[in-house]
Amino acid sequence: MAIYLDHAATTPLRPEVLEAMLPFLTEAYGNASSVHSFGRKARAALDDAHERIATRIGAEAREIVLTSGGTEALNLGLKGAAWAGKAHGHRIVTSSVEHHAVGHTLKHLEKFGFEVVELPVDRYGRVDPDQADAAITDKTILVAIMLANNEVGTIQPIAEIGRRVKKHRGVLFAVDAVQAAPHLELDVAALGVDLLVMSAHKFEGPKGVGALYLRHGTHILAQQQGGAQERHRRGGTENVAGAVGMAVAFELAVAERAETTKRIRRLRERLQKAILAVDGAELTGHPKERLPGHLSLIGRDTDGAAVAMNLDLNGIASSVGSACTSGSTEVSHVLSAMGYPEEEARGALRLTLGRTTTEAEIEEASRIIPPVIASMRIGAAAVAADPLGQGVGVA
Ligand code: PLP
Repeated sequence: MAIYLDHAATTPLRPEVLEAMLPFLTEAYGNASSVHSFGRKARAALDDAHERIATRIGAEAREIVLTSGGTEALNLGLKGAAWAGKAHGHRIVTSSVEHHAVGHTLKHLEKFGFEVVELPVDRYGRVDPDQADAAITDKTILVAIMLANNEVGTIQPIAEIGRRVKKHRGVLFAVDAVQAAPHLELDVAALGVDLLVMSAHKFEGPKGVGALYLRHGTHILAQQQGGAQERHRRGGTENVAGAVGMAVAFELAVAERAETTKRIRRLRERLQKAILAVDGAELTGHPKERLPGHLSLIGRDTDGAAVAMNLDLNGIASSVGSACTSGSTEVSHVLSAMGYPEEEARGALRLTLGRTTTEAEIEEASRIIPPVIASMRIGAAAVAADPLGQGVGVA
């Protein structure tokens, strides 16, 4: 069996979650908008899911809009808030390390006259709250900053940034908490957020289900028309099974969060120690303010994509820090923003642990991964092929 170390990409569906969802995929198939008993049963389950998700982030059920995932929730929240606020201003402040679901959404808004200001980050990928504060002008309507980064696992000082944003009347604060939700406590009041986004498949829930928290009284313009569902904020027949799955998965994740994060932090540190012992391997992201199961690194003189492929052949599922677009490998915008030159960023590798990761898997991974990285260093390969430096066998 392969060892799955890509939990930041997605997680397996938890058996208890599947069990809770099954009735709504089989006999309880009613449309939540129907008035008969089938519909009422679906409505009750849907209302209950809103309530259960809301409670665990310190919100009210009516403040939760369920969507088809994190990407849709971010599109709805950001575009919805931008268009609703257009009469007051057109400036949006964000960071240079956001997920494309935020970055590309804001880029799209630029085409319609919005001005998007990207804050720089430090070597560890952190935004300076004072810089965020300074970037807000009287034309600013929205600040969008992620809680934890998907590539390097760095956690932003969101509560501090939230306090700065709140000093400016009428400016909304939107937070992408997709990666953070499985691992960090989310209390919308303590974080000072107006909009917050989560996605079920990152915490052992179903894929294609997400939630947008929208502070009561926050006005957004709906982005799809056709029905009055989700209190007129998201038209379309609701995914009842998905909503139930998200609620159960989140409830379980929150209940076990303290224990899970402690365990996976310890396992990640063990794997990290084994891998960083390799010459040229270097941790990326913040050394302490990072997600517990998130190990991101750069192997100097390696090609991350080649390392990930080799690891796959050796039974380890990992991911690279770069995205392949039409044949060419683009280096990560996150590492670029953190100041890594292109040749270093190409060596990025991401290993992410989850609740289901075992001691035995980490022991095995600690044995397999270091020699793979070491053997794939371009320099190491060249030296091995030509130990006396006579130019033999080096193309
Ligand atoms: N935001 C972050 C930080 C993510 O990591 C992801 C998914 O990887 C998303 C947003 C998008 O979520 P979804 O896959 O549910 O559309």
